[in-house]
Amino acid sequence: MARAAQARIDLDALRHNCRHIRSLAPNSRLLAMVKADAYGHGLLPISRALADLADGLGVACVPEGLALRAAGIAGRIVVMQGFKNDDELSAASAHALDVVIHEPCQIERLASRTFGPQGGLSVWLKIDTGMHRIGFAPHEVANVTALLAKLPMVDPNLRYLTHFACADEPGSAMTAQQIGCFVRTTQGLVGERSLCNSAGILTHSEAHADWVRPGIMLYGASPLNDTPATSLGLRPVMSLEAPLIAIHTYQAGDSIGYGGTYRCPVPLRVGIVAMGYGDGYPRHAANGTPVAIAGQPGSIVGRVSMDMLAIDLGSVDCRPGDSVTFWGGSVAADLVAAQAQTISYELFCAAGPKAHRSYSTYAA
Ligand SMILES: *Cc1c(COP(=O)(O)O)cnc(C)c1O
Repeated sequence: MARAAQARIDLDALRHNCRHIRSLAPNSRLLAMVKADAYGHGLLPISRALADLADGLGVACVPEGLALRAAGIAGRIVVMQGFKNDDELSAASAHALDVVIHEPCQIERLASRTFGPQGGLSVWLKIDTGMHRIGFAPHEVANVTALLAKLPMVDPNLRYLTHFACADEPGSAMTAQQIGCFVRTTQGLVGERSLCNSAGILTHSEAHADWVRPGIMLYGASPLNDTPATSLGLRPVMSLEAPLIAIHTYQAGDSIGYGGTYRCPVPLRVGIVAMGYGDGYPRHAANGTPVAIAGQPGSIVGRVSMDMLAIDLGSVDCRPGDSVTFWGGSVAADLVAAQAQTISYELFCAAGPKAHRSYSTYAA
């Protein structure tokens, strides 16, 4: 059952962004983060379009990695949460997925394995340098490294990674502390290193190390508070669109939508669009959140409903059936996110998978 929302995915923009990130971190390999359905852009088409530009793909969980393998995607795939049970460990091993190890119980599972290919499992050891989500504490790392080295199933070439908590705030003391902690903790250990998400790539070139792990920048949104994506040389990948279904003119003082929270200050031409929170558009988008009607600026008025919302059409020449753009093109997802008190990541993840997605062709 198709709703009217369309997400147009510009694979040339994706590839431009990937090449741009490479130019920012020219001495590092690039692990393209495609978890959560490629941030709502579509796991397989995005992964295929990045195959020749990235050195590997990053997913959250084993099933995402298996979906890539089932689609015939070869090459390195790193599972950020590693395996959660024995079945996932078996599947990761059988399908050559790299696993992140962050928890003692994962090591116990590995140790209790008496079968499986010898030295076949590539392991990345996650170090908690201050994010306090997953990972081993710095003082545990030497011991865990020694334990992993004894396990016959594990490839002896360990890799080390950490994740930043506050990299979206340029100049954050937290990020500098985390980098320092990671450097001290991994001193003397042999193995490739990875620290940077998108924000880290932009603000901490000294921490690019062996692998960078960009996500949101690939999709053309900004990882930094208050820095527009266009000023970072990025191009939006997703355009979210839906058609106008009605046009009305209301009088000064008329209220619009649930709760009557918006009152027309002057006579207003209002368009109703087949887009709502049921399509993943944020219900909390404030009055004034930007949209584009046939390339001309417009804005949200009143509360977003489940299947519809209202926009101020101004004097834009338009009729029912015309397409309204909610982000992408001239409407920055970051601005929409700010108006809805969220981040572009959440917008993409919410709306992308619900829309009908279509993909541009691209020139290799
Ligand atoms: C999602 C994720 C990234 C990418 O983060 P962005 O902010 O989207 O660049 C990098 N590393 C890890 C471990 C992640 O989970």
